[in-house]
Amino acid sequence: MTDVLRKESFVLPDGVIYLDGNSLGPMPVGVPARVADVMNEEWAQLLVRGWNKAGWMAAPSAVGNAVGHLIGAPEGTVVMGDTLSIKVYQALAAGVKMRPDRRVILSDTGNFPSDLYMAEGLVGLLGQGYSLRTVAPEDVAEAISDDVAVVMLTQVDYRTGRMHDMQALTAKAHAAGAVMLWDLAHSAGAVPVDLVACNCEFAVGCTYKYLNGGPGAPAFIYVRADLADLAEPALSGWLGHRAPFDFDPSYDPGRGIERMRVGTPPVIQMAALQEAMKLWKDVDMDKLRAASVALQEQFIAEVEAQVPQLELASPRDARMRGSQVSFRFSQGYAAMQALIDRGVIGDFRAPDIMRFGFTPLYLDAGDVSNAVAVIKDVMENRLWDDPAYQTRGAVT
Ligand SMILES: *Cc1c(COP(=O)(O)O)cnc(C)c1O
Repeated sequence: MTDVLRKESFVLPDGVIYLDGNSLGPMPVGVPARVADVMNEEWAQLLVRGWNKAGWMAAPSAVGNAVGHLIGAPEGTVVMGDTLSIKVYQALAAGVKMRPDRRVILSDTGNFPSDLYMAEGLVGLLGQGYSLRTVAPEDVAEAISDDVAVVMLTQVDYRTGRMHDMQALTAKAHAAGAVMLWDLAHSAGAVPVDLVACNCEFAVGCTYKYLNGGPGAPAFIYVRADLADLAEPALSGWLGHRAPFDFDPSYDPGRGIERMRVGTPPVIQMAALQEAMKLWKDVDMDKLRAASVALQEQFIAEVEAQVPQLELASPRDARMRGSQVSFRFSQGYAAMQALIDRGVIGDFRAPDIMRFGFTPLYLDAGDVSNAVAVIKDVMENRLWDDPAYQTRGAVT
């Protein structure tokens, strides 16, 4: 287990046990110097020449390959840009276009709201009888019928950590003639993913969670290699054009994955992410997964033995969970504030979910036991029962 642990690669404040890398990964130590370099050496000195000389324009594809490496995507099938919500929209629109005789987007009620909102916005714009159909996560397989154009699912449920079987559901979607879109927001850098084996047409994800790219880091989009020159990008921005600097007045999509680019890349954020991706080069995802499961199993066993007030909300079977464990508690918000005050940082998702993410790159068994001791103290002594812990911030 120790061979994935690399605490020295991250900056973590003293006295903090960080169980929220599933929401915002901590900062890798190399990032500040890299970002300072982009500012002082590249932006300040090179000015506009940076686009060519410092590789700014090529970075979305270069970083895309580094991310692709972690999710079983071949070179040239992943590109970075925009935010995840936008990439969901783009992949969904491209998928719908591939099945012009079908009108339904199928998803599940456990999906992250933004994915569902983007789908609602798209069907509203398309009109013509398009609709979004959502079913309970456990009913998805049954609900894939031959009127479905695109099945859009997030592999790991943001609240409970429940994990879908990507390969089985993709096969089911394909058997019904539907296009498959996977959201890997809570998968990339958390669980092993093999997009080639999965055979889905599209995948998207963000990089500020388990990949530690920093707040607002760019999202990624994957298009299966055989579709790269066929998929219609929907968001037809100039940097997805075949030749942006020809300034052709009409749009002609670029070759391969490049067509999924939209506008000017966020160079400074991209550099932070590129630096963070260096960390992942030699991480073995199977070993990382084994270490994550060990930490989660320890956490569940210790919490259930010592903190009877909390009720497991995640699947008990580790094979059905991503890299987080959630517990239900009616006063979950206040309890999480009390924990954060005592250095154990997780988060809260309405109505009653206390979420704890496990990242074996910087967490070990000792951290888990120390966190459980704090949780026990907060729960046993009702330390959450303090008016100061009732006021909700804009971000929970
Ligand atoms: C985190 C997350 C998002 C966030 O989308 P942004 O556009 O990056 O804010 C969207 N979908 C899922 C499934 C997520 O987990």
